[in-house]
Amino acid sequence: MTENYDYVIIGSGFGGSVSALRLCEKGYKVLLVEKGKWYGKDDFPETNWNLKKWLWLPSLRFFGIMKMTFFRHVSIISGVGVGGGSLVYANTLPTPKPAFYNTGSWKGLENWEAVLKPHYATALRMLGATPNPHLELGDNLLQQLASQQGRGGHFEAARVSVFFGEAEKTVPDPYFNGEGPARSGCNICGACMTGCRHNAKNSLDKNYLHLARNKGLEIIAENEVLGVKPRGSQDGSEGYTVTFRNATSFFNKRKTTVRTKGVVFAGGVLGTVKLLLKLKKTSLPRLSKRVGDDVRTNNESLIFSITPDKEKDLTKGIAIGSVYHADENSHLEPVRYGQGSGFWRLMMVPVVSGGSFFSRMFQITGKILRHPIVYFRLFTVKDFARQSIVLLFMQHLDSTLVFRRGFFRMKTKVSKGSRPKAQIPLAARLAEKYGELTGGKSFVILTESVLNMPSTAHILGGAVMGKSEAEGVIDKNNRVFGYKNMLVCDGSMVSANPGVNPSLTITALAERAMEKIAEKD
Ligand SMILES: Cc1cc2nc3c(=O)[nH]c(=O)nc-3n(C[C@H](O)[C@H](O)[C@H](O)COP(=O)(O)OP(=O)(O)OC[C@H]3O[C@@H](n4cnc5c(N)ncnc54)[C@H](O)[C@@H]3O)c2cc1C
Ligand code: SF4
Repeated sequence: MTENYDYVIIGSGFGGSVSALRLCEKGYKVLLVEKGKWYGKDDFPETNWNLKKWLWLPSLRFFGIMKMTFFRHVSIISGVGVGGGSLVYANTLPTPKPAFYNTGSWKGLENWEAVLKPHYATALRMLGATPNPHLELGDNLLQQLASQQGRGGHFEAARVSVFFGEAEKTVPDPYFNGEGPARSGCNICGACMTGCRHNAKNSLDKNYLHLARNKGLEIIAENEVLGVKPRGSQDGSEGYTVTFRNATSFFNKRKTTVRTKGVVFAGGVLGTVKLLLKLKKTSLPRLSKRVGDDVRTNNESLIFSITPDKEKDLTKGIAIGSVYHADENSHLEPVRYGQGSGFWRLMMVPVVSGGSFFSRMFQITGKILRHPIVYFRLFTVKDFARQSIVLLFMQHLDSTLVFRRGFFRMKTKVSKGSRPKAQIPLAARLAEKYGELTGGKSFVILTESVLNMPSTAHILGGAVMGKSEAEGVIDKNNRVFGYKNMLVCDGSMVSANPGVNPSLTITALAERAMEKIAEKD
């Protein structure tokens, strides 16, 4: 038992970083514990073939910035490291449509659209959001597609958290009156999702976390929180002990325990929900029975469009440079990797739809046998990233899963309502049209076509808001029902389907939750 803190924050993603800065500003002594590593610009991999630096797979001693987790009903990609998902994300910061504020378990608890408006504005300013000024080939093709469909007015440049100064020129902090770190101008290399090696991406270590450290935030990286236990009184009113253990050392498995008055769970959906499900069975039995409920995948589909045309270079631009609102519920974004990043090639199969496992395998084989030369050329393109683009399709329409404790690990179950689908017909149709513009074809990650399992980079929910503990895990101010000074501030608090990339919303919600906390006496 070493130190006494006012707050311990578990995880350093969007929710954790906002909490860290705002609590430090209010005069609290704050410790942030993060499972992943610190990554400076030169630590990021040049391509995603450098698996040790790209993937988080501790059993193989890979301590990179992205984790892939496979469940029965969904495969999830998420970020790990100091800065959480901001290290690996594609910088895009859209605001959800009005339906988001009036659905789900938080419906009616507040006039969310009005209440969150100032917090969205703060979040945009803090994350350095600006419209992308560089529309490149991948974006131009999307614009062409929108025009072909008679919806040219529904195409726009994405709003992104990137510094667009003079390419590669370093300037003093352009955002926080000199209190932030220096930045360099983006050189539109497209490599944002393997980590920006040019100091142009406004990841959380360059804004919220940097400013919080100036105000006294302590960060312990490479440590995973395993336990949170009330001290004395069972409701946590006398504080908690938090226990964590080294996550990267092979030999040092010693546990550290600290005392704190308050706890903020901010480990992202996979970190927070896993921990809460475990703690409900052990040290935090008063947690709501709703832990793990209302998990949303953002109704997403990731389709790769691969072109055989060697002259095309789809890497140029930023990771997500534009968006096409295909109808009032659906959005399509072209997503790039930087030159040389070809890992996903290993997991590609043609898009097929519905049916049993055998029928899908039959369809895949049939497609390849009908056009063996075309598929051979596409599977063996020289630089996969240059000749491919990921079409990220998201929908506002709702569907949920639940997470439960399994024998060895967390597992998913289908709850009421429809389960998230691997194949969304509109997404497949749009990808086919996009492919026609490049002479290419559509592919998906094999878990989608073979196992009929959707993939998502935007997992949300699992510790949602409600009027009471019967309806949610947290109240409208993010406080955990049943415990004092305990909050959830990350993607698991998102209580409806935003249908768009969620980091801005997570940031705005965390800003609001922190506004409700009083200054330290
Ligand atoms: C490839 C990719 C691209 C994306 N692009 C976009 C985009 O363009 N726009 C957008 O809005 N969103 C994007 N996202 C999604 C975005 O990254 C997430 O929605 C967001 O990061 C979630 O924020 P969070 O606050 O929930 O926590 P996270 O950012 O997930 O961070 C949680 C952190 O907690 C740590 N942690 C977990 N458990 C523990 C524990 N027990 N102890 C200590 N530490 C722990 C994790 O290591 C992690 O660093 C993308 C995601 C991926 C994977
Ligand atoms: S396009 Fe390249 S330079 Fe620009 S933010 Fe992304 S990784 Fe950094």
